[in-house]
Amino acid sequence: MDSALKVNKGIPRPPEVNPRAGDILKKRPAKTMDLSTYLDGIKNRDISMLAQSITLIESTRPEDREKAHELISACLPLSGNSVRIGITGVPGVGKSTFIETFGKHITDSGHRLAVLTIDPSSERSKGSILGDKTRMETLANNPHAFIRPSPSGGSLGGVARKTREAVLLCEAAGFDTIFIETVGVGQSETAVHSMTDFFLLLMLAGAGDGLQGIKRGIMEMSDLLVINKADGNNVEKALQARTLYQGALRLFPPSPSSWIPTALTASSMEGTGMEKILGSINSYMNLTRCNGYFHKKRAEQAVYWMRESINDYLVSRFYDNPRIKKALPVMEQKVKEGQTDSFRAASELLDLL
Ligand code: GDP
Repeated sequence: MDSALKVNKGIPRPPEVNPRAGDILKKRPAKTMDLSTYLDGIKNRDISMLAQSITLIESTRPEDREKAHELISACLPLSGNSVRIGITGVPGVGKSTFIETFGKHITDSGHRLAVLTIDPSSERSKGSILGDKTRMETLANNPHAFIRPSPSGGSLGGVARKTREAVLLCEAAGFDTIFIETVGVGQSETAVHSMTDFFLLLMLAGAGDGLQGIKRGIMEMSDLLVINKADGNNVEKALQARTLYQGALRLFPPSPSSWIPTALTASSMEGTGMEKILGSINSYMNLTRCNGYFHKKRAEQAVYWMRESINDYLVSRFYDNPRIKKALPVMEQKVKEGQTDSFRAASELLDLL
């Protein structure tokens, strides 16, 4: 009997996405353009060209690296004119909610905001682009904001260097406020600290420092502590935590910037406390620009990144060298079998360069 209720035997639903799409995308070399196309795009504040330029600097192909270096050099004179803010805190503390709310506050006051992330564990293919876009939906649709997820994979040093280069491109494209978010609490905080002017640590009331996984060093490098989720029943606890942390911050040795770090409360969900946070950042900028610390710190950071680039270059020159490539597995085997010791083996390999 023909009836709408009759259930026909179905055919298996074909996959909506070609399962080989990932491989095809990976194999297809990225489309690259002339240096001047990238540069003009950046100068014209073309967001799509900025995104493609960042893809270029993230590329590991030697011919792209060369073009990327030229692009960065051409952008350098146009960069530097921004406030770079590092934002950290354990997962769940409310970083993305905070960035959404505080970010809107920043763009509403006439600024252009770029949000970059350092997450050495991220892999693009696992959907972190979508992840970030949905995490910060409002900002992603804000014409005055630009969100870029962490460069994928690689060592923390490599990921951090690419992010620092992306900062320069964003500045050249007219973004005057840069947020660099780190995911979780670990080594990446130090990397973010080495490329930002101001470091903001988000915390929760009620959870002990141990529970929050906050290392003393991270608190010590912070310019502002924000106790997030100060809303509903949590307001009182947040205020108590603020007093507690304020006391703890005083115990740290004075910072060479002469800035005295403070603790504030905020609710990223309800949007409270944002004005004070912006006020604190502005006071810091005024103080450090007047006393010269701002420029001194940026100059030191530039030297630090020069050294990091040298280290990166030397390491890749070593491992990419054909003679080393040939000799390395042989030497590794010899070390394994105890025919030679690690130090002698290393020295012999280095001599091959
Ligand atoms: P992240 O992992 O640090 O990026 O944290 P999220 O921004 O994803 O937030 C983690 C959870 O905390 C989410 O369920 C948010 O809705 C919630 N949350 C974030 N900020 C606030 C806040 O100010 N108040 C309250 N009550 N919840 C918040």
